[in-house]
Amino acid sequence: MKKIRVRFAPSPTGFIHVGNARTALFNWLFSRKENGVFILRIEDTDVERSTVESEISLTQDLKWLGIDWDEGPDGGGTHGPYRQSERLEKYKYFADTLLDKGSAYYCFCAPQELEREREEALIEKRMPKYSGKCRELELSGSIERVRRGEKGALRLKVPAGEEIIFNDLVRGEIRFQTDFIEDFVLIRSNGLPSYNYACVIDDRLMEITHVIRGEDHIPNTPKQIMVYRALGWEIPLFAHLSMVMGKDNTRLSKRHGATSLDQFREQGYLPEALFNYLALLGWAPPEGREVLTKEEMVSMFQLEKVGKASAIFDYDKLNWMNRQYIRSVPSENLVRMAIPFLKRDGIIHGDITELHFLWLIKAINSIISNISILSEIPKELDIFFSFPISEMDKESKKILMDETSKRVILQFEEELLKYERINWEIFIEITESIKGKLGVKGKSLFHPLRVAITARSSGLELQKFVPIVEEGANLNFPRKIKSIRERISEILEFITN
Ligand code: GLU
Repeated sequence: MKKIRVRFAPSPTGFIHVGNARTALFNWLFSRKENGVFILRIEDTDVERSTVESEISLTQDLKWLGIDWDEGPDGGGTHGPYRQSERLEKYKYFADTLLDKGSAYYCFCAPQELEREREEALIEKRMPKYSGKCRELELSGSIERVRRGEKGALRLKVPAGEEIIFNDLVRGEIRFQTDFIEDFVLIRSNGLPSYNYACVIDDRLMEITHVIRGEDHIPNTPKQIMVYRALGWEIPLFAHLSMVMGKDNTRLSKRHGATSLDQFREQGYLPEALFNYLALLGWAPPEGREVLTKEEMVSMFQLEKVGKASAIFDYDKLNWMNRQYIRSVPSENLVRMAIPFLKRDGIIHGDITELHFLWLIKAINSIISNISILSEIPKELDIFFSFPISEMDKESKKILMDETSKRVILQFEEELLKYERINWEIFIEITESIKGKLGVKGKSLFHPLRVAITARSSGLELQKFVPIVEEGANLNFPRKIKSIRERISEILEFITN
């Protein structure tokens, strides 16, 4: 059997949208499952919109997501170059072949003229379609005009009255009437190839067996098939993936939330979680399991099982998936992953000591069940770093102003004097002593103490909070952590003023 070869062919005109990333991922899964070859091809013939920065960021983002390629612009492969801008001679070569065969012709119509025809058609409610005026020009004359420097575009002679039928691996049979397709441009008058033409030349020369791409390209497929036919080439198989939509059934866009890979990375989604989630957009693994390793996805993936219904991007589900992955990360790694986010929020700077690192393990472990994405970690750690007396809610203030509470807190302050440092055992000793002296217990004892040391009426269990905050207070964090003693004296000052 022929070796399976697939490609992902982004245009480097911006950050990579999750819909495109999902196309890359399905190509990748399919190639890995079939022991095939996965190619990255950069479609950069739109010189005005393509940038080198965007090519760099898109390759980095794909690698971040966990997608690698066997052949591509950064090395490897015998079918290069892998940037369309470096393949212009090849496009020229086959354009000449098409001219010689009489399948293509030069068009010298001015852009303004074409635009006018288009507008007229729209006004008359006809489908805009190039008139085919230059089809009649004699080839030798046209070649001479081009040789003398006149600008001409090369168009394909689209056969009239034919039906183009192809069997899409996802969507089944698709038919198009050629009468609705104009003689489209293969090479523009500036010498650069059109997408539909370059794509065919490259897919052929790169020996692509399966073209897997978004269904927005379905209308391009009959045009590409006509180019294959005109050149007498075998046509690859096509699989058009449904679009990725928001919950409101419109194309996923900024309005819905993050859409490009870099945004997901910045928010602290784990690449493995996003990879897993994207794989489920339109593909359901057998047995209904959802959290799968990459190896499992590869072994279970079947292109024929990809659905044609539009795929709904559900941020809640992605968050759920991300939580599953975050929980499975060993604590030390999680702290390493959290560090850029902690730096971004000014919780730490530069290198941190072993002690800070060990403290972060405990602190992050204590709040892990509250987070879905890494960027939420600094906010959750706020419970240790901030002591927001001035922003306390009504409930907390009410608890503090109660007479019994005041007595409890004052007594707590006095008991604290006996100890240099506090840990959980000492905290319990102190509360026992308060119980004995004031006869206060349970909620009336612990609630005021919680508010007094956290300035909040709910949150982490004190048993976890107390030792972490005390240890943290002894470490020199750029954002200082207040000790229990400091907190108690501040709160007393607040109550008594
Ligand atoms: N450059 C095209 C795009 O980004 C590629 C389409 C294709 O895969 O044929 O949509």
